[in-house]
Amino acid sequence: MAAPSVVVVGAGQGGTETAAALRGRGFSGRITLVGAEDALPYQRPPLSKGYLTGGTPADELPLRPRSFFAAQDIELVTGTPVTAIDPDGMRISLAQGGGRRVSLRYDHLVLATGARPRVLPVPGASLAGVHTLGDQRDALALRAELRPGAHLLVVGGGFVGLELASTARLLGLEVTVVEAAARVMGRSASAALAEHLTAGHRAHGARVLTRREVVALRGDDTGRVRVAELDGGERVPADVVVMGVGVLPRTGLAADAGLPVGDGVLVDRTLRAGDPAVHAIGDCARFPSPHAGRPLRLESVQNASDQARCVAADICGAPEPYTAVPWFWTEQCGLRVQIAGSTAGHDRTVVSGDVAGGRFSVFCFAGERLVGVESVNRPADHMITRRLLAEGGAALPSAAEVSHPDFDLRKHRRARQPQ
Ligand SMILES: Cc1cc2nc3c(=O)[nH]c(=O)nc-3n(C[C@H](O)[C@H](O)[C@H](O)COP(=O)(O)OP(=O)(O)OC[C@H]3O[C@@H](n4cnc5c(N)ncnc54)[C@H](O)[C@@H]3O)c2cc1C
Repeated sequence: MAAPSVVVVGAGQGGTETAAALRGRGFSGRITLVGAEDALPYQRPPLSKGYLTGGTPADELPLRPRSFFAAQDIELVTGTPVTAIDPDGMRISLAQGGGRRVSLRYDHLVLATGARPRVLPVPGASLAGVHTLGDQRDALALRAELRPGAHLLVVGGGFVGLELASTARLLGLEVTVVEAAARVMGRSASAALAEHLTAGHRAHGARVLTRREVVALRGDDTGRVRVAELDGGERVPADVVVMGVGVLPRTGLAADAGLPVGDGVLVDRTLRAGDPAVHAIGDCARFPSPHAGRPLRLESVQNASDQARCVAADICGAPEPYTAVPWFWTEQCGLRVQIAGSTAGHDRTVVSGDVAGGRFSVFCFAGERLVGVESVNRPADHMITRRLLAEGGAALPSAAEVSHPDFDLRKHRRARQPQ
């Protein structure tokens, strides 16, 4: 019998890691990695950070060198969007052009199509100078406009918006961040962390406005944005605008194929998408999380990479439920922030460390249960917490223990380490 063939749709973080993990496990069948973008698969985190300042050159973006794909016998098809899936016939259709193949058969299909930035539906959203930041082309276009002295308006105080605000200040722009919610990073950070980051951005020279909304963007007679109008009537100068108002998972292919979808392709514990031959991973997938106790969709490199390895194991006949502890990092204003666990449902926090000196951790609890830790310039806390959260149960410190002035995370872990 011929070895099975795997088609991976989406040549980003998750898709590339799936192909690599399959070969790493000794999978000997055919692997085809199909990507819509006309580029070697690349990392996205530098796009809001070093790639804009020039600190990370373009040749450091690729996830793997071109030679890797040849050496691993992974067929990489770039610049070719997949246009349809036929789950009954086990085929995908490719965008046509230049005499290329129009369809491909699979035994296993992995959807790793990621997410695209949301555009705020306000008047003026299509003026020149208004950007979103989701891929390398977006970053290139934005980079050309980040000139010292120009006014940058960032709509949305999430991770990407705040990273960008920090980068733009380094480049000498005047920066205003407008966030509709009561605090920045409302979806993903505790109030204590949000407050610290807001103060950090202000000290860095950015203006950070919360509970304020951009209601319109106004341009000059060349059609270029110049001013943002906020609710309440304030007008903010804006030579460049970036909308950092969240992303929409790319679920169209799955929905059209009749696979279950709802703010993400819905998958089970082994990341199968309602069909034993189809998996979905990364930014486009909503999966049951044992850490959150509910289905989650995560936008992080770690999640995409860990899910890629989980899917590769399943395809190779060694299925394991996906139970990785979520973690995420961001860099803003010289602060390295690392979040371990699923902190969204926390109702209590205990802060430990030197807040004024910018080296501390926020322990987040739901009732008495530790659900996650946010660390600022404390990488050791982050690493230890990830292990504790993975071990769970008795390994986890209580709020009372963490609140004690002598609490030491290292000692705690040593004392509770399973023998
Ligand atoms: C500016 C920016 C900064 C970030 N910073 C961080 C960070 O600091 N830390 C962190 O953990 N995460 C960060 N992220 C998030 C992280 O990059 C994503 O979570 C991760 O890339 C998700 O991997 P993925 O494989 O699901 O999707 P992606 O890596 O986005 O890849 C999806 C790919 O699928 C392709 N595709 C879509 N539809 C089709 C189709 N029909 N046919 C073929 N190809 C298709 C897309 O073109 C894309 O190349 C950042 C993201 C951005 C945009």
